Amino acid sequence: MEDVLPVRFDYHALPSRVLFGAGRRRETPEVARQLGCARPLIVSTPEQKDLAGAIASLFSASSAHIFPEAAMHTPWDVTSRALAVVQENGVDSLIAVGGGSAIGLAKALALRTGLPQIALPTTYAGSEVTPIIGETQDGQKRTRRTLDVLPEVVIYDVDLTLTLPARLSATSGLNAIAHAVEALYSVDANPVTSIQAEQGIAALAAALPEILANPASRDARSRAQYGAWLCGTCLGSVGMALHHKVCHVLGGTFDLPHADTHAVMLAHVVAYQAGAVPHAMRRIARALDADNAWTGLHALAATLHVPRSLAEIGMPHEDLGRAAELVLQETYANPRTPDYESIRAMLERAWRGAAPQPDSL
Ligand code: NAD
Repeated sequence: MEDVLPVRFDYHALPSRVLFGAGRRRETPEVARQLGCARPLIVSTPEQKDLAGAIASLFSASSAHIFPEAAMHTPWDVTSRALAVVQENGVDSLIAVGGGSAIGLAKALALRTGLPQIALPTTYAGSEVTPIIGETQDGQKRTRRTLDVLPEVVIYDVDLTLTLPARLSATSGLNAIAHAVEALYSVDANPVTSIQAEQGIAALAAALPEILANPASRDARSRAQYGAWLCGTCLGSVGMALHHKVCHVLGGTFDLPHADTHAVMLAHVVAYQAGAVPHAMRRIARALDADNAWTGLHALAATLHVPRSLAEIGMPHEDLGRAAELVLQETYANPRTPDYESIRAMLERAWRGAAPQPDSL
C-alpha cells in the first residue's frame, strides 16, 4: 500500500515481454521465430563466448552467428566491427547474453539497424529493461533514452547467473538497489514504480547475503533475478537523482571503480536525503526490515563485504572539495537542494568509512 498517495503523477508503462524461469534459455529460437526471425547475431563479452556458442547451438545449423567482443561502456570501435558482421551475414535479430556490457552492444546495434532484440541477462545490472544506452567514443560517454534500444523480449533464466562471482553479484545487486532507492524519491515517482522499487529492494536485500554464503543457490539466485528485473524497470521508468550524479562525478573525474563507488556512497546519499523524503525512507527501511533506510543500507553493504570507504577505493582526500563543486555543477532534479558544505561533509564521511548520518536541513 502506498504510504502517501501523490495527488498528481504521470505513469508511462514500457512495452516488455518477460519470460522468467530456469531453463527458459532453450526457448530462445522459438521466441526469435515469434519475432519473425531465424538468423540472429549473438553478442557477449569474450569471457562469455562459450555461453554465446551454447545459445547459438540451439538454432539450426549455422543460422546463428556470434560476436563475443562486447566491452564495458559500449565503445564505438566494437560497435562498428559488430555492425559490419550484421551487414555481411544477413542478420535479422540480435541476442545479448551477459550483463550490461553485452546488452549495451546489442542496444547500440538495434539503434543503427532497427533489428529486434532478445536479452538473456546474467548479472543484476538491469539494462535489459531500460530504454537507455550509454556509448563511449573518443573517451566521452554519451547516454540517451530512446525506445529504439529497448529489447523486445527478456529471458530471465536463473541457470545463467549461477556462475556470477560472489563479489560481482554483491556489487551488481547493490547497483540495482540504488536504482530502486532513487526511484522512490524521483521527481517522476509514481505509485506503480514505487511498489516495484520496494519489492525489488526487498527481494535483492534478502537474496544477496544468501548468495554470498551459497553462490549455487538457485532459490536465492531466482529471487535476486526477480529483484533485478524490478529494480531495472524502475531505472527504465523514472529519472535518477543525487546518488547517480555523485557516482558519475567520482567515477568520471576521479576514475573510481563504478560498482564500488555505488556501494560506498548509497547509504550516505540516502542519509543526506532523509529529511526531505520521509515517505521514501519509510519504504526503504521496510524493504530492508531495518530501523531506518541509511543504517539498513550501511548494514547490508557490511554483510556483503563490499568496500566501505572512498579512501579504500582510491579517492584522494585533497580532491573531496573539487568533487563537491563538480556535484553542484551537475543539473538534475533532487528532493533536497544540495549545497557545498553539506555535500563536502557527506563526502568526508564516505571517505572515512564513517556511519552515514542525516544532518539538519
Ligand atoms: P558486465 O556486463 O560488464 O560484466 C562484467 C564481467 O562479468 C564480464 O566479464 C562478464 O562477461 C562477466 N559476467 C557477467 N555475467 C556473468 C556470469 N553469470 N558468470 C560469469 N561471468 C559473468 O557487468 P554489468 O555490471 O552487468 O554491466 C556494466 C555495464 O552495463 C556498464 O557499461 C554500465 O554502464 C551498463 N549499464 C547500463 C544500463 C542501462 O540501462 N543502459 C544499466 C545498468 C548498467
